[in-house]
Amino acid sequence: MKKEIIVLPGDGVGREVMEAAKTVLRAIADEYDHQFVFHEHEIGGAAIDQYGVPLPEETIDACMHGDAILLGAVGGPKWDHVAPDIRPEKGLLGIRKQLGLYANLRPVKGFKALLQASPLKEEILGESDILIVRELTGGLYFGRPSERRDSGNTVVDTLSYTREEMERIIETGFESAMKRRKKLTSVDKANVLESSRMWREIVEEKAAQYPEVEVEHLLVDAAAMKLITEPSRFDVIVTENLFGDILSDEASVLTGSLGMLPSASLRRDGVGMYEPVHGSAPDIAGKGVANPIGMILSAAMMLRYSFGLEEEAREIERAVDECLEQGYFTPDLFIPGGTPVGTAEMTARIIENV
Ligand code: ATP
Ligand code: MG
Repeated sequence: MKKEIIVLPGDGVGREVMEAAKTVLRAIADEYDHQFVFHEHEIGGAAIDQYGVPLPEETIDACMHGDAILLGAVGGPKWDHVAPDIRPEKGLLGIRKQLGLYANLRPVKGFKALLQASPLKEEILGESDILIVRELTGGLYFGRPSERRDSGNTVVDTLSYTREEMERIIETGFESAMKRRKKLTSVDKANVLESSRMWREIVEEKAAQYPEVEVEHLLVDAAAMKLITEPSRFDVIVTENLFGDILSDEASVLTGSLGMLPSASLRRDGVGMYEPVHGSAPDIAGKGVANPIGMILSAAMMLRYSFGLEEEAREIERAVDECLEQGYFTPDLFIPGGTPVGTAEMTARIIENV
């Protein structure tokens, strides 16, 4: 199989973990006789430095024509002073919006080897295997107006969704549940927000089309608590943009580190962008110690969702598991009796297991 992969390394540790993911993909290509061609383009701070904008036309253009997109992370203190409308993060929001990538899939799985390093109890963590399905192109992050009024003393942000925008993400939630343990938790704030009341209505309507799926509604505050106290009660969580953003960072605790979490941003035709959940981690950038696993598992998701290469995706996931079982860990993790390694060595160990 030949695939053209658009590579957007971005900033900070994004560039370091992207190297790791490419190395793993090359190993998979060798092993399974595929051809993965990488085309590198800039986004975020690196694009501001080179083009003056966080999302250059040539990057958008490349993304429109590739088979899938891999993204590292954007942002960093170097660009703190730039104007709000050309901040590095605008590049990320822009590419998601322009490509219409409305469905953000974030699997959260407890790794056995990491249990002891987690602040949570082992019996709680051991069983967690959750898929968070987050709406990505609507809601508060995109609502207009978003501005200061009254000489700067009043602020307005707008939470707006169309029925169609809610329907398609809720469908993704049900479809995902059908492929897993058939339990869907819909998270909203229906006791306060009108948007959440419409959301709940749509979930109820769709539930009739998926009789096999067990559906529950949780208010976001309750969900935030139960995610930590009872993670094993969850299979698929479907929610809107802001709630999904917060809950998925919270859920990262279940895996031991933000550095472990992958994500996929998809639209209906399977076009997708794959990125780790973590940011550019300026505090550790350039030191060669970033955990590459979130990015590597994102590459595995790309093989699965955009290329249909399930076996190859599993091979990567298995290799990561094995590497942790062998005791290798980056400084954001801790495995008692294990071996501390940097980004490059962790990657090399993972490839050895492919
Ligand atoms: P953003 O706004 O881009 O989400 P952030 O400041 O919220 O950025 P991160 O950049 O993800 O979050 O960093 C949060 C913390 O997690 C930092 O201390 C960082 O060093 C750590 N971290 C993030 N990614 C990794 C990684 N891949 N490996 C090790 N540590 C990481
Ligand atoms: Mg963050």
